[in-house]
Amino acid sequence: MSDLPVLMYHAVGTPMPGRLADLSVPTGLLAEQLSALSEAGYALLGLSDALAAHAAGRTAVALTFDDGYVDFAEQAIAVLAAARASATLYVPTRDLGGTASWLSDGASGLPLLGPDDLADVAAGGIEVGSHGAVHVPMDVLPPSDAADHLRESRAVLEDVVQRRVDAFCYPHGYHARRLRRQVAAAGYAHACAIGHRLHAPDEDPYAVSRLHVRPDHDPATLLDLVAGGPRGLLPLAKRAATPAWRLARRTALGTTGTTWT
Ligand SMILES: [Zn+2]
Repeated sequence: MSDLPVLMYHAVGTPMPGRLADLSVPTGLLAEQLSALSEAGYALLGLSDALAAHAAGRTAVALTFDDGYVDFAEQAIAVLAAARASATLYVPTRDLGGTASWLSDGASGLPLLGPDDLADVAAGGIEVGSHGAVHVPMDVLPPSDAADHLRESRAVLEDVVQRRVDAFCYPHGYHARRLRRQVAAAGYAHACAIGHRLHAPDEDPYAVSRLHVRPDHDPATLLDLVAGGPRGLLPLAKRAATPAWRLARRTALGTTGTTWT
């Protein structure tokens, strides 16, 4: 079976400052991207539906949006509706109605959707998933804390959206085998990392790879990315072995982080 493209978005229509600029796409560009994907024959779905459609042999792209910025309700959802597209939206549950305090560079005040907004979003056909209880790298939390965060955030979301919550997304993208097992044990069906490549259907559903959609991805570039993955164009720094990063971060926890997703 072919690979499933899973696209990773963050903010829509809210420019991000400095080095965070790649975390936002203009609203008009999102519309152009979705239109091009639809015309190319892709069904545009949330991740649970996309995994099922892909397994059934349909040509699909999964759309995912991280963090739950207010602009998802104010900008993105209308674009999705116009494109007859759905998506999965991942939120850190203790930050609902707050701000993106984990972001630096002047973006920490960006407002996040509250529980009522999320209920509306879910009622509109968007899949809501957990991005942890708090937006910290969970692979270096004490295991009991990680388990608590996984359970708590799922319970909170199921209460808010009044439906089963299957989707999880690792804050900052980091995961390890023990954490993947904990995500499964907490009842989630799949979990997103970053990965920067297409998701192969025989891979671990608790380490779904995604493609980061940037503001310079015009429709033609995005179609190329979706068809073939980044094709080795990633900077070497992004291919660095994760275990070395994890060690470095373990000693740096408690200080200001430098990762952002
Ligand atoms: Zn995030």
